Amino acid sequence: MSATVIDGKKVSGEIRAEVANEVKELKKQGINPGLAVVIVGENSASQVYVRNKEKGCLEAGIKSIKYELPSETTEAELLALVEKLNNDPRANGILVQLPLPKQINEEKILLAIKPEKDVDCFHPFNVGRLMGGGAKLKPCTPSGIIELLKHYDVPLEGQNAVIIGRSNIVGKPVAMLLMQENATVEICHSRTRDLAEHIKRADIIIAAVGRPKFVTKDMVKPGAAVIDVGINRLETGLCGDVDFDEVKDVAGAITPVPGGVGPMTIAMLLRNTITAAKEQKKEA
Ligand code: NDP
Repeated sequence: MSATVIDGKKVSGEIRAEVANEVKELKKQGINPGLAVVIVGENSASQVYVRNKEKGCLEAGIKSIKYELPSETTEAELLALVEKLNNDPRANGILVQLPLPKQINEEKILLAIKPEKDVDCFHPFNVGRLMGGGAKLKPCTPSGIIELLKHYDVPLEGQNAVIIGRSNIVGKPVAMLLMQENATVEICHSRTRDLAEHIKRADIIIAAVGRPKFVTKDMVKPGAAVIDVGINRLETGLCGDVDFDEVKDVAGAITPVPGGVGPMTIAMLLRNTITAAKEQKKEA
C-alpha cells in the first residue's frame, strides 16, 4: 500500500489564506502588519528565499520592507540598521537572511534583534520561551512540521518520534514542539550508534540531515509518518533526505520534496508576523 502524500503546498496555501483574511481584519482595526527583510550580499539561494518571502507578504497583504546591502557591509552598519528597524513601528517583524558574509558575526546580529520582532525565533529569549512552552513566536520550519502532522491527523500523543539532526534551526526546536504535543522524542545525530535501529522504532520520523535519500525503506516501520525536511540540490533537481520512491511503499504518510515542509516555512513566517503585530499593538 502506498502512503498518504502530505501536501505542504495545499496546507500552506490554506494557512496563507487564513493569514490574508486576518490581515484584512487587522487593517480594519488600524493594524498594518509589516515585515522587514534584510539581505546582505549576493548569495543566490538567499536571493530566492527573500524573493519568495516578499511574494508571500504581498499576497497576504503584509507590507514587505526590503533592505539589500552590499557584500562588504560591516557588522557595525548592519547593527545600526537592525537598531533602526527595532525602533521602526512599520516593521513588526525583522528577518536577517542567513548566511551573512564572514566579516559579520551572525550571533551578534541575531542577538541585536528585539525578541518581539524576531519572527525567525532565533533570539535566545525566544528559544528559552520555546523550552518553557509559552512561546508566542515559534520557529517557522519546526512549527510548520507540527501543522502538517496535525492537519493530516497523525497522532502525536504517546507516539515515538525520532528526529535525525540536532541543529538549532530544525532538530532541537522540533523536538521541543513534539514533546509539547506529548510525543516521546529521540534526537539522533552523526554520533548516534545503530541509527537505523532507532529509526525503525519510530512512529514519526523527522529527517533533517542534509544528505540525499539518507532514510531508506529498510529503516522505516510500516505505517510510520515520515517528514522530510532536507533540501539537497542535485544535478537532477531538488531531493530530500528520504528516498521517497521507496519509502512511500512502507510509510503511512510522507512529505514529498519539493512540496512538503518547504512551503510551510514561509506560511509560518507570515503567521509569526501577524502575531508580532498583534502583540506589539497590545503593548503600545
Ligand atoms: P545541519 O547541517 O545544521 O544539521 C544536520 C544534522 O544532521 C546534524 O545534527 C548532523 O549531526 C546530522 N547528521 C549529518 N550526517 C549524519 C549522519 N550520517 N547520521 C546521522 N546524523 C547526521 O542542517 P539543518 O538542520 O540546518 O538542515 C537539515 C536539512 O534541512 C538541510 O538539507 C537543509 O537544507 C534543510 N532545511 C530545510 C528547511 C525547509 O524550509 N524545508 C529549513 C531548514 C533546513 P551532528 O550534529 O552530529 O553533526
